[in-house]
Amino acid sequence: MLVFRQLFDPQSSTYTYLLGDRPSGIAVLIDPVFEQVRRDAALIGELGLTLFATLETHVHADHVTGAWLLKRRTGSKIMLSAASGAEGGDRYLTQDDVVAFGGRRLFVRATPGHTNGCLTYVLDDRSMAFTGDCLLIRGAGRTDFQEGDSAAMYRSIHEQIFTLPDDCLLYPAHDYRGLTVTSVAEERRFNPRIGGEIGIGDFTGYMKNLGLSHPKLIDVAVPANLRCGRPENQAAGVPAANALADPAWAPLRYSFAGVWEIDPHGLEEHQGEVQILDVREASEFSGPLGHIKDAALIPLGELAGRAGELSRDRPIVAVCRAGGRSAQATVILQKAGLTRVANLAGGMLRWRAQGLTVSGGAG
Ligand code: FE
Repeated sequence: MLVFRQLFDPQSSTYTYLLGDRPSGIAVLIDPVFEQVRRDAALIGELGLTLFATLETHVHADHVTGAWLLKRRTGSKIMLSAASGAEGGDRYLTQDDVVAFGGRRLFVRATPGHTNGCLTYVLDDRSMAFTGDCLLIRGAGRTDFQEGDSAAMYRSIHEQIFTLPDDCLLYPAHDYRGLTVTSVAEERRFNPRIGGEIGIGDFTGYMKNLGLSHPKLIDVAVPANLRCGRPENQAAGVPAANALADPAWAPLRYSFAGVWEIDPHGLEEHQGEVQILDVREASEFSGPLGHIKDAALIPLGELAGRAGELSRDRPIVAVCRAGGRSAQATVILQKAGLTRVANLAGGMLRWRAQGLTVSGGAG
């Protein structure tokens, strides 16, 4: 079974694709975004997958790749086109190369035009292809900067993408209208730039006159992506102090839901250094589940108005019965300007199930 997820970065309208081979648990990410590395790593962990490699469709001009940061966090291999001109890759890909992940494979097709090093990745059964900024949904990547070449793009689309099966689903690197997927047949018929009877002269004429503004991030993104996303002046192996550093006050885990979590044993070890905030109702606090020693009680419904009662000197761990209301409490606390905040995963139920000490409650 294939695990497939389409992820979105709203800042740059970039799609990142997770492909995982369920039997082996081995996964690849196509076009990860630097600022979304924490999210992507959380999802990969929650799905029980191991990241084998990150694949770039090209050297992007609108966002910095997460390839280097993911490699540092997970040991994943960086793969991109040999024609990209980028340094820091572990494998440089060319036409007809095969990237295996577990029992599945992606076939590499060179689709230059937007840049020289643009690649399209085709899944082994030809049910889906990842076209980067070559063919977009009812559009095509721009050819007016980097090594743009609209005649090359025309040939790439006709020879490498339109030759795939009609029902092959196409997933682009971007969409600015929120469209998520298309297919070979519909683009061949309905793409206003290159579909139907549109010839190479029509296409190059269209592409010459798009009149788009210069990408905002190009001067930052391209140099960084030519280093596969490694921050500048960053010697290999030396941690970047500010590269999405994780909180250091306790062993926390970031969830795909967007909440920092701490396990019961992690909290027990740091119990003296944090404020424990119980957000259940008073009757539950003194009820059969009991509570954690020295926990302060502020029911969730009162928290927004009473967040000022909490000290800013110590991190806060929010607790409830099962970990749901306390996750919401961390959101409320962050809105109130408290930054070092985590949720006790599994709440009092898991705390008790792991045999940790409870004040009050029934034996
Ligand atoms: Fe691009």
